[in-house]
Amino acid sequence: MSDLTETIDGLVRPIEDWPEPGVTFRDITPLLADPAALAAVMDGLVELAQQAGPIDAVLGIEARGFLFGPSVALRLDAGFVPVRKAGKLPATSLSTSYELEYGAAVLEMHVDALTPGARVLVVDDVLATGGTMLAAADLVQQAGATVAGNLVLIELLALGGQARLAPVGCASLRTY
Ligand code: AMP
Repeated sequence: MSDLTETIDGLVRPIEDWPEPGVTFRDITPLLADPAALAAVMDGLVELAQQAGPIDAVLGIEARGFLFGPSVALRLDAGFVPVRKAGKLPATSLSTSYELEYGAAVLEMHVDALTPGARVLVVDDVLATGGTMLAAADLVQQAGATVAGNLVLIELLALGGQARLAPVGCASLRTY
């Protein structure tokens, strides 16, 4: 087992039956609070991000994509673009809705956030069903840009997100 895998296993806390029965929530807050672990995870994310080729913009998904996206963007010499939940962005925005287990949700991005043709890296903390990453990809496409890569700390294998993100796929530091 690599050092980084051990770090993630030690500091990402599984919370059973939260936010609802049957879900094991992967709580990254202990990892965020440990400076050496946080630095190691950032290095690992940047290494994976570099495998996606040249990146013009890193797109972070509210809320936990905001914790990693800007740091990755700085290291890639790329800009950071926030994708937010409905009604949070002040200027004219693109919008996409996607299915949740119960009901639907909306994600938005400023209409002028990406240059057409830009190569974009989408960052979040956890890949589960892939619905959130697909919604982000829809916003990127609406803006005339291209998803060059998807990147998370943790992929939950049983939920099938990876297959839904083909052919681009999603890189991760740890799978459960
Ligand atoms: P999905 O759209 O199903 O891939 O879900 C991914 C989004 O929901 C990400 O923004 C995650 O932060 C969050 N998420 C889903 N499942 C979990 C989980 N078990 N632990 C932590 N976050 C999760």
